[in-house]
Amino acid sequence: MLKKLQQKGMIKGFKRTPQRLAILDHLDGNKSHPSAEDIYRVVARKNPSMSFATVYNTLHTLVQAGAVRELTIDPDRKRYDPDTSGHHHLICLGCRKVVDIPGDIPVDVPRGMSNEFSIVGNHIEFYGICSHCGKPRK
Ligand SMILES: [Zn+2]
Ligand SMILES: [Zn+2]
Repeated sequence: MLKKLQQKGMIKGFKRTPQRLAILDHLDGNKSHPSAEDIYRVVARKNPSMSFATVYNTLHTLVQAGAVRELTIDPDRKRYDPDTSGHHHLICLGCRKVVDIPGDIPVDVPRGMSNEFSIVGNHIEFYGICSHCGKPRK
């Protein structure tokens, strides 16, 4: 999806460089909600000229252009999601794994408030312990 947008020149302000394309390539269809550090670690392996600043700046451009969603569900670091469709997230408080919650969750603001605001979206964060982290230690 990301790659298609890029090929069509639909990501505003996105200059094609081998480094930036490598970042896009890594993010395309990525379901792991990686942080900038996670992305850097992987792409720098194949692209030794990659700098963390490039990763950071590229992510910023993609977020500004609406091509990537920035998530603040992890208190330690921002996480990035190439899936910009409306969906919610669940984080494991043990390993910080973030998974998608598909579908609509019916939520609404109390009446009255909707007179003051026109609601354009929502994002629900769930916290839990995954089955791996919940296993008793041996
Ligand atoms: Zn876990
Ligand atoms: Zn997601």
